Amino acid sequence: MKIDILEMTQTKAQFVISETNPSFANALRRTIVADVPKMAIDNVEFHLGPIMDEKNTAYESVSPLFDEAVAHRLGLIPVPTDLDAFNFRAKCTCNGEGCPNCTIMYSLNKKGPCTVYSGDLEPVGDPKFRIKDDLIPIVKLAEDQALLIYATAELGTGRQHAKWQAALGAGYRYFAKIEIEHSKCDLGGSCVKVCPKGVLVKEDKKIVVKHPERCNLCNSCVEVCDAGVIKVTSDPTKVLFRFETDGSLQAKEVLMRGLKTLEERFENLREQVSGLEE
Ligand code: SF4
Ligand SMILES: [Zn+2]
Repeated sequence: MKIDILEMTQTKAQFVISETNPSFANALRRTIVADVPKMAIDNVEFHLGPIMDEKNTAYESVSPLFDEAVAHRLGLIPVPTDLDAFNFRAKCTCNGEGCPNCTIMYSLNKKGPCTVYSGDLEPVGDPKFRIKDDLIPIVKLAEDQALLIYATAELGTGRQHAKWQAALGAGYRYFAKIEIEHSKCDLGGSCVKVCPKGVLVKEDKKIVVKHPERCNLCNSCVEVCDAGVIKVTSDPTKVLFRFETDGSLQAKEVLMRGLKTLEERFENLREQVSGLEE
């Protein structure tokens, strides 16, 4: 198996896997979607009763949304994740009590009228856990309304809830195999004009497959070619794979962790099977 990276940014990955098969590509897709962990807010405590400001003005601790809706929105905010630093809470040495090795605590204290944004969440402790996407609107507070919140984030996986899904829009498609019978080609160029992806170009009196990675297998070039010299088929041994992240983890970290998880699983399977042989 071979991986050629086409694009790797902080939040986006696009690469070609060759000498593979659809089962492996799908196993990788499922692993990065469901098994790579990330941090997300899972527990939100709302202060009840009046909230005072420095001038002793009393605000009502309410917002136009139900507390559940506010908590749900907070749960979907991308929380910076350091996979080497955090344990799953249930498996932590604190026995699930919550400690700096398994939890990040945030506080939020806003008084209306204002819009509460994700950036208003203040990490209690290390400032490196400040929310990077700081302009995600949570709720609008009216005059005399206020929110005083303590929220804790912990590790989870997409298998438990979509808010812990490390990879978004993960998918793959077969790479195209485009064959042109040049000896019979009349160089009309209709295939070049009809291709919506700019895959084909006319170069040196020849139709050339310039960007095969862009082909979406639509078959328009085959249909428009009067000479019938183009053949487009899908190649199941080569796939174009892509996914994005919400910024909690870098795309490279998600890919590496996904591949490592798959490797460990197959290693476990291998050990169990070799145990049967003995
Ligand atoms: S199958 Fe569609 S995308 Fe691919 S080369 Fe032909 S026209 Fe372009
Ligand atoms: Zn802990």
